[in-house]
Amino acid sequence: MKIDIRNVTKRFGDFTALNGVDLEVKSGELVALLGPSGSGKTTLLRIIAGLEWPDTGHVMFDGTDALSRSVRERHVGFVFQHYALFRHMSVFENIAFGLRVRPRRQRLSEEKIRQKVDELLDLVQLKWLADRYPSQLSGGQRQRIALARALAIEPRVLLLDEPFGALDAKVRKELRRWLRSLHEDIHVTSVFVTHDQEEALEVADRVVVMDKGRIEQVGAPEDVHDRPATAFVHEFIGESL
Ligand code: ADP
Repeated sequence: MKIDIRNVTKRFGDFTALNGVDLEVKSGELVALLGPSGSGKTTLLRIIAGLEWPDTGHVMFDGTDALSRSVRERHVGFVFQHYALFRHMSVFENIAFGLRVRPRRQRLSEEKIRQKVDELLDLVQLKWLADRYPSQLSGGQRQRIALARALAIEPRVLLLDEPFGALDAKVRKELRRWLRSLHEDIHVTSVFVTHDQEEALEVADRVVVMDKGRIEQVGAPEDVHDRPATAFVHEFIGESL
C-alpha cells in the first residue's frame, strides 16, 4: 500500500508541530522518520494512523483519501514503545485478540485462529512462548510478540514508534537486525520512528530526517550516512546518547 502525504500542517494552539510536510512511502517500503525529540515524528505517525487529524493537507492510501477513514478502516498495525501487551492474557491470547475482534462477517473459526497464531509465532520465532504471560517475557520478546499482534490484523500499513526505545543497547541491536530481515520477508508498508541514527540507517530502506516540524532530508541510508551536510544529524545523535 502506497502512502502519500501532501502539505500536511498540524498546530497545537500556537505551536506548529508539522509545517507543510510532503512524503511518499512506496508500497512495501520501510521508511524511518529520524529526528530529535519534538521534531514532529510521532505527530506524523498519529496522522497516518488516524489518531490525529491535520489542519491542512492530505493523506492518501493507494490514491484514495485516508483522512475520511477511521483508525479501524485504515487497517494499520501499531507497535509502540509503551503499547503494552495485555497482562492478564497469555501470549497466544494476546495475538489471537487481533483475530477475534474482526467484524462479524470476517470472523474466524477457533481452528483457523489457532493456525494463524501459530504462523505468527513462527514468524517472530517465539513459538515456544505461546502459553507464557507477558510478565514472564524479556523486553525484547515482548516487543516481538507486540509485532506479531500488530501483524495479526493483516495490516496494510505497519507503524512503529520507538519500538525498541525501552530496551538495552545489546537487545536493540539484535532486534533491529531481526526486524530488517523480517521485513525482507513480509514487505508490509512500514513507518518506523526513531531518534537513533544508527537504528534508522540499519533498519530502513529510506531515511527521512525531520527537524522542527519539517522534513530536512530524504535519502537511502548510505546517502544520509555519507553526506557531510548531515552534520546536524550527528548533533542530535550526540544529544540522544
Ligand atoms: P517527536 O515524536 O519528534 O518527539 P512529537 O510529534 O511527539 O515529536 O511532538 C512534536 C511537538 O508537538 C512537541 O513539541 C510536542 O510537545 C507537541 N505536541 C505533540 N502532541 C501534542 C498535543 N496533543 N498537544 C500539544 N502539543 C503537542
